[in-house]
Amino acid sequence: MSKTYHWKHFTIQVTKKKIKNTNLSIKPAQPDVICMSIPYAMSYNDALEVLEQPRIQRWVEKHQKKLQEHPEYPKVQEMERYHKRLQKILPELFKKWESRLGVRCAKISIRDTRSQWGSCSIRSGNISISVWLGAYPVECIEYVVVHELAHLLEAGHNQRFYAILDNHYPSWKHCREQLKNGK
Ligand SMILES: [Zn+2]
Repeated sequence: MSKTYHWKHFTIQVTKKKIKNTNLSIKPAQPDVICMSIPYAMSYNDALEVLEQPRIQRWVEKHQKKLQEHPEYPKVQEMERYHKRLQKILPELFKKWESRLGVRCAKISIRDTRSQWGSCSIRSGNISISVWLGAYPVECIEYVVVHELAHLLEAGHNQRFYAILDNHYPSWKHCREQLKNGK
């Protein structure tokens, strides 16, 4: 059982567990999320009141300061920036290319993957895009969108697939090079 609340600029995830004392934690990857475990006997309202206690406020402040000094913190910030950029750019690109290619993507997700720029599940029609693509020029992002949507027409990386790219996005090779050299 778990509930989500908003408190100050934090998201609070309160989970009831078989424990005696309330537990709080903040993960480096999600500095704005406070995970709170409470005993079953405690109400969610009481849990939120705990957050108002001065000692808890002090804990949150101390923790945040520590996180900001954490080596992963700049990475998290960078990721958030790319995520925001992609969220802004992707819907329009998908709309444009879905209509040009005559396909439909069921769900777009942005993921923290380093191994590939994008992936497409042909069965579900879901496409995921690497958050790190957000560091590249729009034409490279567009290439990945075209590439993944083209998989809805042709699953494999075969002649037919590359013919679709040549036809619709002639600069794809240049973009692929840029993506290869970047990371
Ligand atoms: Zn592919």
